[in-house]
Amino acid sequence: MVPMNSLIAAHLSKTYHSGTDHPLEILVDVSFTLEPGENVAVVGPSGSGKSTLLAILGTLDTPTSGSVALGEVDPFQLSEPALAAFRNRYIGFVFQDHHLLPQCTVLENVLVPFLADGKADADAIAYAESLIQRVGLADRRLHRPSQLSGGEKQRAAIARALVRQPALLLADEPTGNLDAATATEIISLLIELQIEQRSMMVVVTHSEVQAARMQRRERLDAGRLETRE
Ligand code: ADP
Repeated sequence: MVPMNSLIAAHLSKTYHSGTDHPLEILVDVSFTLEPGENVAVVGPSGSGKSTLLAILGTLDTPTSGSVALGEVDPFQLSEPALAAFRNRYIGFVFQDHHLLPQCTVLENVLVPFLADGKADADAIAYAESLIQRVGLADRRLHRPSQLSGGEKQRAAIARALVRQPALLLADEPTGNLDAATATEIISLLIELQIEQRSMMVVVTHSEVQAARMQRRERLDAGRLETRE
């Protein structure tokens, strides 16, 4: 992995102008930084801008103003194809819904991030197999998502998100569909692997219990970020 020594989000704002209505301010002057090995929870009520913030950090959405720097790179200065390649290589996503491809096996799903660069080579396959083992799915590697429980699907999604050892791991309500015990297992796995890979992780969660397990907590309230500790 090319060293990505920090994530710096500075003065991010997101505003929607809809017709003659007042502009909708979704994010207001949001700034924060992360370093390799750090993780942070983002909590806040529904509609406070959490998913919007995560989408901007993940370069899936653009801010109205402000900047994001991942290492030396300002992703919003990249061309669309360069940005897609950058995102695929350096950013891993885990969503509430696993977004696994139903027709593919666990192993094939975990290898998907390599396909943008062509075929997965032997090293990629070996690393994917080792991650599948780490997330506890070794005996399920040739199963399809419909044959897995909710927690197992999320384990496969975590292996897929981490298979390219991303600089930045973004998780949007990764335990939103899981029971409390499974949620705890999934967050444990995310933290363990993120720290091991020394990636930076942002987890959006409604769960105070899961948020409390992160190194830092940030709260979004009507688009404004307050650091809680
Ligand atoms: P959260 O993840 O905290 O629930 P979101 O980031 O999903 O919040 O949404 C924040 C607010 O932004 C919501 O009020 C939502 O309706 C609004 N919003 C999101 N996308 C759009 C859009 N394309 N146009 C207008 N408003 C939007």
